[in-house]
Amino acid sequence: MRILLVEDDKDLSRQLKAALSDAGYAVDHAADGEEAQFLGETEPYDAVILDIGLPKVDGVTVLERWRRGNVATPVLILTARGTWSEKVAGFDAGADDYLTKPFHTEELLARLRALLRRSAGHSTPSLSVGCLRLDPRAARVNVKGEPLRLTSLEYRLLHYLMMHQGRVISRTELVEHLYDQDFDRDSNTVEVFIGRLRKKIGPDRIDTVRGLGYRLTAPADELKDTEGGA
Ligand code: CA
Repeated sequence: MRILLVEDDKDLSRQLKAALSDAGYAVDHAADGEEAQFLGETEPYDAVILDIGLPKVDGVTVLERWRRGNVATPVLILTARGTWSEKVAGFDAGADDYLTKPFHTEELLARLRALLRRSAGHSTPSLSVGCLRLDPRAARVNVKGEPLRLTSLEYRLLHYLMMHQGRVISRTELVEHLYDQDFDRDSNTVEVFIGRLRKKIGPDRIDTVRGLGYRLTAPADELKDTEGGA
C-alpha cells in the first residue's frame, strides 16, 4: 500500500513518515499544495493524508481539483483545532475522513487502516484468503495459525494482493503500489518477491496469469472450511 503524506510542518512530517513506514506503507511526502496536487494526479496512491493549511495552494483547493479531475483516492484531512468550517469545507470537497490536530499517531494509523479497508470493500479488520491471514493492526501474517516472518517489502506485496484478492494484478500495478517515488523501480524485482513470497506462504496461493499478472486465491482444499472466517 502506497500513501501520499501532505504536510508542511517538518517535525510532524518526519514523525508521520517514520510511523507510516514502520506500519508497512510506502510513503511519498509533499510539503506544499502544488506538489501535492501534481503527485495526486500522476501517481496511483492507495490513500492520501492531506493537511488543510498548506503553502502555495490550500488543502481544500487541492482536494477540489483532484475530485474535479476524477481522482477518487480516499483522502483523510488534517484540520487545525477549533476550525469546524475547515472540516465542512473538506468534506464538501470530497474528503473521506478527518483528524483534528493535535492527534495521536495511533489514531491516524487506525483511521487509515479503516479507510483502506472500506475503499477495497472489506468490512473486517483482518484479511483472510483460505488459511492465510493478515492482520494490518499488528502487521502480522500467519498460515494455518503459524506465524510467518516477512520482510517489509514482502509484507507490503502480500497486503496489496490480499486487499485485491481474486483479481489479476499486473506487475506495473504492483510496482506502483509497493515503492515510493524515490525508489529505483524495476518490475523484474516484483517477480523475485513473488517467488520469495510463494516459498513462505505456500506454492498454490499466487497464480501467474501469463502476460497479465498475478492473482491471489485460496487453494481448493481450503475453500470450504474457511469461508466467512473473521
Ligand atoms: Ca499546515
